[in-house]
Amino acid sequence: MADFCTRCVWEIFVQPHERTPEVLENLTPDIDVFKIYGDLPRGMWRPCLCEGCGLGAIMKSETGELLVAYATKDPDHLSDWTDYGHRP
Ligand SMILES: [Zn+2]
Repeated sequence: MADFCTRCVWEIFVQPHERTPEVLENLTPDIDVFKIYGDLPRGMWRPCLCEGCGLGAIMKSETGELLVAYATKDPDHLSDWTDYGHRP
């Protein structure tokens, strides 16, 4: 069972001509990055693993920013915290 994050579901499973706001609204990714972020208290993060892009953790920073980290070649270490970018 592979899990995919919001952006990967959008880019892999939604054809370009099907990309409407309604489709985005009804997207149900295994790893719903924006929902997980919304549910996190500030300063907390949660691990995940996206088979598409290697997304490995989602954080809500102390200032309320959405930050993510990606898997690296070293299984014990994630990348530095970075921007997930804008909604697709
Ligand atoms: Zn992904």
